[in-house]
Amino acid sequence: MMTPTPRIGLGYDIHRLEAGRPLILGGLAIPFDKGLFGHSDADVVLHALADACLGAAGLPDIGELFPDTDPAWKGADSRGLLAEVWRRVAERGLTLGNADLVIHAEVPKLSPYKVKMAAAIAAWLKADVAQINVKAKTNEKMGAIGRGEAIACTAVVLLVPSSEA
Ligand code: MG
Repeated sequence: MMTPTPRIGLGYDIHRLEAGRPLILGGLAIPFDKGLFGHSDADVVLHALADACLGAAGLPDIGELFPDTDPAWKGADSRGLLAEVWRRVAERGLTLGNADLVIHAEVPKLSPYKVKMAAAIAAWLKADVAQINVKAKTNEKMGAIGRGEAIACTAVVLLVPSSEA
């Protein structure tokens, strides 16, 4: 039985940037000459967010629930994955308190997309846009992210009992 208190979850994901792939972040197609490589659409934002939701709900991580050896998730739209995660969260009697995300990307510049991304995520989680915060940071040119070889995302999610929402 869930304890009737807010529950916090942390999620993190990183994928490699490669030429000839569409760049999908937070479910949005971002114009850029490279995209993230992975089994699914490699949307690091929705993967980190989904893992934070699962962590807060005390459920297994997305690697366990949606294995990258499963052909069902090949090229999959991560919005479907997030929807399935959110169905399981709701099943546990939990809903969103708030979510805070940091996208770690040297390129492209993401500030024009932050608000649109937050609005889209809010809609998928049946929440208000004020409950979602999306931030973007460069890696100060350091490491793989700083060289523009990868994009990562860190997400923190607070879930609250549905009855208190
Ligand atoms: Mg991933």
